[in-house]
Amino acid sequence: MELVEKHRSNCTECGQCLEVCPRYNDLGLLDKLYGYLEEHSDIDADSLLRCLTCGLCKEACPEELGIKMLISPARQKWVSEHGLTDRQTMVDPEAENNLFKKIAELDETPVYENSSGSVVYFPGCAGTYINKVMAQATVALLDKAAVDYTVLSGVEYCCGAVSAGSGDPEPIRRNGQLNIDEIRKRGAKILITACPGCFKAFKDIYPKMFGKLDFQVLHVSQYLELLIREGKLAPESVLKHKVFYHDPCHLTRAMGVYREARDVLEHIQGTELANKSPENSACCGFGGGVRVNYPSESLDVASDRYRAAEKLGCDIIITNCGGCMQNLIEAGKKEKIKVFDLAEYLSLACGIKIVREDSRMLELVNRAYRLCISGYGKSKGL
Ligand code: SF4
Ligand code: SF4
Repeated sequence: MELVEKHRSNCTECGQCLEVCPRYNDLGLLDKLYGYLEEHSDIDADSLLRCLTCGLCKEACPEELGIKMLISPARQKWVSEHGLTDRQTMVDPEAENNLFKKIAELDETPVYENSSGSVVYFPGCAGTYINKVMAQATVALLDKAAVDYTVLSGVEYCCGAVSAGSGDPEPIRRNGQLNIDEIRKRGAKILITACPGCFKAFKDIYPKMFGKLDFQVLHVSQYLELLIREGKLAPESVLKHKVFYHDPCHLTRAMGVYREARDVLEHIQGTELANKSPENSACCGFGGGVRVNYPSESLDVASDRYRAAEKLGCDIIITNCGGCMQNLIEAGKKEKIKVFDLAEYLSLACGIKIVREDSRMLELVNRAYRLCISGYGKSKGL
């Protein structure tokens, strides 16, 4: 296999990838992955499942290799041999055990204007059903800035990126062109996404699969920064906090977007940003299926973010990703440091207060996990 050949011939076995990896500590993993991908040997599911897909290993590798580049094809191979499990189908919008449909059965879902507009806001499944505050705050800011926008929310517009990441490319094939057509129909010039996963789908994956898009794709942090720069939003309230910006892996490392969220924070009076660059940023522990396969280990990784914020003397963590938000809130139940979504924090600075129900959100999502995944919390499986 070409990929294995490339990795084997360039890897110096220096171990720098493992020094930063929050999940693996044995270089023997590389041989296991080579053997499995070259069909010389089998591999245990645990070796594949532990990866957060955070990309820290590639960033640290002097040869730009890392471990994730082998894990991703190995996971796909595993799925082709063993089939999909409920942990994967639960993010397929057409599956019976879809997580977001289950949450919609248990709780009221906010309804947004869905008509036409020069801007389409795409809250994604997480913003629609779980971290509703992300979408509510963004919509409130778009109203305040008098933007001509509409919203495409709900599981019927699922971008398919999470399914693809878990080894099931079908939802992205099914929904990609449909989503593009829906955005065109609304006459949009700009699409803004709440989650880094949806951002990557539209910005990177869709053009490769369906051709060049005729609208601009921005992450919400980029659009909020633009609104401030153009004077359409003016954060006037003083928020006296020392804040830690938690870089979502799939936004910072995967897509290279990390400056705009920091610029937004630096425009808020009284707010001091402690980490001005993404240097030493780390994962929240949610991604790569780790949250559902290893719940308590996933939350332990999230707890480390609180220690990093504490070290810098911060009283608030800001992030802008549905998965990061959920894991940080769940891991922080007993922490003094509070977590805010970027749009939510900016809303506060613009005089808008969004009501948040963290315990209800956690109760709902954990209940839905138990309903969608057989033996949730007891067993592991791809
Ligand atoms: S850091 Fe790169 S070169 Fe070093 S062991 Fe890891 S993959 Fe190999
Ligand atoms: S992507 Fe993250 S968790 Fe996976 S091997 Fe690399 S550093 Fe470890």
